[in-house]
This record gives sequence, C-alpha cells and structure tokens, in this order.
Amino acid sequence: MLEFRNVTKAFGETVAVNGVSLSFTPGQMVGVIGRSGAGKSTLLRLINRLVSPGHGEIVFEGSNVATLSGRDLRAWRARCAMIFQQFNLVNRLDVLTNVLIGRIGTAHTLPVMLKHFSAADRAAAGLALDRLDLLPQALQRADTLSGGQQQRVAIARALLQNPSLILADEPIASLDPRNARLVMDALRRINRQDRITVICNLHTLDAARAYCDRIVGMAHGRVVFDGTPETLTRSA
Ligand code: ADP
Ligand code: ADP
Repeated sequence: MLEFRNVTKAFGETVAVNGVSLSFTPGQMVGVIGRSGAGKSTLLRLINRLVSPGHGEIVFEGSNVATLSGRDLRAWRARCAMIFQQFNLVNRLDVLTNVLIGRIGTAHTLPVMLKHFSAADRAAAGLALDRLDLLPQALQRADTLSGGQQQRVAIARALLQNPSLILADEPIASLDPRNARLVMDALRRINRQDRITVICNLHTLDAARAYCDRIVGMAHGRVVFDGTPETLTRSA
C-alpha cells in the first residue's frame, strides 16, 4: 500500500536516508527506532513530502508520491496526519477549535474557515474528543492542558483529517511515563479501531516493543532491522 523503493535523500554532504526499501501494510502500527540523526524524521517527511527524495520512488496505491505537485500534492498531504513531539496546537484557541483545524489542513485560512465549520464538523470534533477522553476540556484554551492531554488533542485533530496514515514524530519524547502510556494507548486504539496505518518514530525500544506490530531500526540512514517485536527480542 505504501512502498519505499530504493529511496535516498541527502542534505548537502549528509545522507539522511540511504537506499531505503520498505513496504508498509495497511493497518500496521510501525515503530521506527534509532539514534538521533539516524534518519527517522526524514523518513516520515519523505512520506508526506515535506522533503522530496533525491533518488527512488515512494509509491502509495500505485502512484509515486515523490512526483506529485499542486493540487495532487495538497490532497496527498491531507491524507497524511502528522503528530509532533511538541504537539503544535494553537495555544490561544480552545481545544474544540484546535481539533476542527484537522478539517482545514492548513492554518493559513483559519480566520476565514472558523466561521464555516458545519454542524457535522463540530459533531465529528466532539466525537473525536470523546474518544480521547477530552470532551470535558473542549472549551478550554489549548495551553491550559497538560502535555499528555495536548498530544491527545493533536490525535483528535488528526482524526478529523480522515487520514490514510498517521505519521507520529517522537510523540511521547516530551511526556512523563504515565502520559506517554495514555498517548500510545490512544494511537494503538485508533490504529486498531479505524484501521489507520500508524508510523511512529520512537527513541525508546520499550515503547516500540509494547505498542507496535513491527519495528524498523535505522542507523546512518539505512534500515538495519525490520521485524516483529518478538524477533527483535530473540536476536537481542
Ligand atoms: P532523526 O530523526 O533520526 O534524528 P533526521 O532525519 O532528523 O534523523 O536527520 C538525519 C540526518 O540528516 C542528520 O544528520 C540531520 O542533521 C540531517 N538533516 C535532517 N534534516 C536536515 C535539513 N533540513 N538540512 C540539513 N540536514 C538535515
Ligand atoms: P530530530 O529531533 O528529529 O532529530 P533535529 O533536531 O535533527 O530533529 O532537526 C530539527 C529541524 O532542523 C528539522 O526541521 C530538521 O530537518 C532540521 N535540521 C536538522 N539537521 C539540520 C542541519 N544539519 N542543517 C539544517 N537543518 C537541519
């Protein structure tokens, strides 16, 4: 469904991703692990085309994501929901509005679009917040929530995009262990219930082992491990 074919991306002399071939099955929850600088972020950014590959193809449902432009590129990005380490909510807006931003795709048109959310959009946002146990916080400003709550708001926002993929770049790196568990539980639940493919960069092997179907290990831009948590345990 999503396939990397011999993908390379260099920034000047630095080869961030080096000849990577990977195939992601729909509905999988994949943990990508590796040291800082291994190429994990670049791998995710290649998928939603925040960066373009130097060589190779990234194929989704038969079309090469690497060559999309204009309207097709915008449509593709809308299908890739991103979760960031620092949550990236709009602090001064309430939680419900932050979730509704998932329906816009881009915050640039926010002042215009805010007036135009339909009752159906609002209902969907409420439902998403309820699924993440955040309905009581719906009308609070985003920056009054804890980090773990803010990350769950970001997951609700992702759901409003009706994404094909959720790309999570270090989603729990800023959280304490309890909030980290709540966030990973939420990602796992959505992965299972909605069959959304989740690709998640994690800096600890433990989290990948506990939550993911598959673990991809990266070092120096290359895939150095690709298997189930069970096979990793055996070879470790
Ligand atoms: P990770 O997410 O595993 O920490 P990254 O994908 O962020 O790894 O980075 C891989 C390598 O590519 C690093 O050496 C990093 O400094 C470099 N790199 C990433 N993005 C850029 C960029 N925009 N410009 C220059 N170098 C970059
Ligand atoms: P990560 O936490 O994923 O390792 P980094 O701290 O390496 O991220 O990178 C933060 C931002 O800086 C990213 O947008 C990345 O693309 C960019 N970046 C990383 N390394 C470099 C670099 N050597 N030169 C320019 N930009 C970089």
